[in-house]
Amino acid sequence: MKAVRKEKPGPGAKLADVDVPTPGPGDVLIKVAATSICGTDLHIYEWNPWAQSRIRPPLIMGHELAGYVEEVGPEVHSPSPGDYVSAETHIWCGHCYLCHIGAAHICRNVEILGVDRDGAFAEYIVVPARVVWRNDPSLPPKVASIQEPFGNAVHAVKRAEVAGKRVLIFGDGTIGLMACAVAKALGAHSVWLVGLVEERLELARTLGADETINARQADPVAQVEKWTGGLGADVVLEMAGAAAALTQGLEAVRPGGRLIAFGLPPQAVPLDIPQLVFKEVEVVGVVGRRIFATWEEAARLLARLDLSPLITHEFPLSRFQEGFARLSARQAIKVVLYPGE
Ligand SMILES: [Zn+2]
Ligand SMILES: [Zn+2]
Repeated sequence: MKAVRKEKPGPGAKLADVDVPTPGPGDVLIKVAATSICGTDLHIYEWNPWAQSRIRPPLIMGHELAGYVEEVGPEVHSPSPGDYVSAETHIWCGHCYLCHIGAAHICRNVEILGVDRDGAFAEYIVVPARVVWRNDPSLPPKVASIQEPFGNAVHAVKRAEVAGKRVLIFGDGTIGLMACAVAKALGAHSVWLVGLVEERLELARTLGADETINARQADPVAQVEKWTGGLGADVVLEMAGAAAALTQGLEAVRPGGRLIAFGLPPQAVPLDIPQLVFKEVEVVGVVGRRIFATWEEAARLLARLDLSPLITHEFPLSRFQEGFARLSARQAIKVVLYPGE
């Protein structure tokens, strides 16, 4: 089969000819219908310091997918061949303390698809049956493949507890834009998005943001003070991965408010602790999705939200390099690849 594989340490990846993997006793072989490129994949492709420390090539990249079960191992009772599925990308161990207390998404022994084991940028992928999620048949494969990052947005917004609140989101990338739609659907009073790219701010408004702030043209903190009579936003979600956004987020959140840290700044960020203390701000780190609680919530939201405007580019798998180029130039939001084409 064809697969996008990181052959050796260093930037780039190759379209390789590899054997179709064989499912073990508890595994499932999935024929990939659509797979989307994530920020993590771009880090691995570009070979940033995180990728250098974590990735052991050769490795088939990719973790966001939708497809059809082709074959199941002898111990698998569910799913069945032909089922339309996606997969949770964090393969939890099931026997550590965190797995036991229902926090499998932060399992200490986690293995991630396309990071620690072969991924989805291929015609077929093998995953343990227990990570498989059955999709609603009405969901197009391209949308089903982006429900994994959508789950990130749902989990973060749930942790922010947005109902009735004034919500400020930093970041006009995939997750920030998705979070606008989720916050609105979950009953936020107002949703304000801070970003840098005008077309993306427009998209944020289409998806549910009441107002947007272009950080190149206006000071987000001053703007939020104006909208809230100097009080600040009830909750702030940092989804830009920028040090400045965290600093501004702490300034823009109201006393007693909550600051959700989701983006990953490349370096450690100094925080104004006296400000945090005197304002009694609650800072919450959020990662991944709850397995499978967030998938259930996401599925219900997907029935009434249209995420397709976020998919800006679609290519056959063989043209993966164009997809990465668009993402690295910040011309694309979500790129979907089709192994069958
Ligand atoms: Zn992802
Ligand atoms: Zn575990």
